[in-house]
Amino acid sequence: MDRPTAPPPSVDALSRRIADVGLPHALLVRAAREAIAAGEPDSARQRAEAIARRQLRPVINATGVLLHTNLGRAPLAHEQPARYTNLELDLDSGRRGSRSAHAGPLLAELCGAKAALVLNNGAGAILLALAALATGRRAIISRGELVEIGGGFRIPEVLAISGAELVEVGTTNRTRRADYEAALAAGGDAVIVKVHQSNYKVVGFTESVGIGELSTLGVPVIADLGSGLLDANTPWLRAAPPGWLANEPGVRQAVEAGATVATFSGDKLLGGPQAGVIVGDEQAVEACARHPLARALRPGGLVLAALQATALAYARRDADAIAFWRLATQPVAALEARAQALAVTTGWQARATAAAPGGGSLPGVEIASFGLCAPGDHRAALRANDPPVIARAEDGRTICDLRSVAAEDDPLLAAALGATWAPRR
Ligand SMILES: *Cc1c(COP(=O)(O)O)cnc(C)c1O
Repeated sequence: MDRPTAPPPSVDALSRRIADVGLPHALLVRAAREAIAAGEPDSARQRAEAIARRQLRPVINATGVLLHTNLGRAPLAHEQPARYTNLELDLDSGRRGSRSAHAGPLLAELCGAKAALVLNNGAGAILLALAALATGRRAIISRGELVEIGGGFRIPEVLAISGAELVEVGTTNRTRRADYEAALAAGGDAVIVKVHQSNYKVVGFTESVGIGELSTLGVPVIADLGSGLLDANTPWLRAAPPGWLANEPGVRQAVEAGATVATFSGDKLLGGPQAGVIVGDEQAVEACARHPLARALRPGGLVLAALQATALAYARRDADAIAFWRLATQPVAALEARAQALAVTTGWQARATAAAPGGGSLPGVEIASFGLCAPGDHRAALRANDPPVIARAEDGRTICDLRSVAAEDDPLLAAALGATWAPRR
């Protein structure tokens, strides 16, 4: 027996019914139109919510990975008014200035370098340094440092793009001073490239040559440090450098050791916005600034303002003003207390966990932490929460690590956990 079917709602009526999803009207209309066209008017809300979910928005990082590439690496607060700035104006002379004149010198001073140039990201910084300083020269690099940084960014290919001639020395696990000397003895204009193995570790029978020794060989040394730990002595922390930083090269130490230039990211251990920085000799940095690629890789005023705020926090030795350091240095006891409190309200179980710096830096390094766990894999449900919670799964359990969660987000996390899983009473 045929039942009369109701006529489909109008696009207009349907899009008004889902207005609370909070998208601009035109996008609601699109969702409504697609739902009607598919013969499923009831799916309009779901389609609109899917559009909303694809927009950039805050998430709670409960992975315990502090610099998570998928989650924007270092968390950063930045606000600025819609005002003009002296981005490229020298206020003293009234002439055209440089957009590297603000954050650049602050960063240079913080790591004891003569000059600094700010680019869009770390990859851009090493690309520009090589293009400006190694083009047409022999670029001598250890076979243990011909790495892929991520996203297909490979040092040998970057060297090729820069127009340098790649000269590999040593072996994957061992490279000695004599290897560099032999390559230099072959003659020709040369530079030495030193790349920090940030995202992997060679253990066991290994040997490498430090920047200090390389800088005595009589040619420029270009050091790609990656993570941007400004100073291995972490003078911005009240306590001594945390144990998990051991062996991470500091920018100041690379400069003091004699690197001609050193490059690093703004949003890894520096804890700032996505940016790349070249620090070093005045002449070498100037050569980078004059290279045509510098214009293509230059950052915007928004990034430079955020980077300047980060540099000023370091200058004040105010680690609490840098979200990454605030999270990284929370005492485990404080995390444990928060986990216990959350366990009481949610029924999830508090337990010790191992967090990580992440961001392709410090591979294999763990930071003691505390979190909450529940049986089963609830990651998808937690991602669907508002705000999304990004957790990790391990041995058939879901783990939310508090090391990467700001304490003020605990009520939001509690609501998400409680709605996702509760013990049977
Ligand atoms: C991360 C990294 C880069 C790339 O920096 P981005 O800011 O991601 O572009 C380059 N070199 C090393 C050694 C790195 O660790």
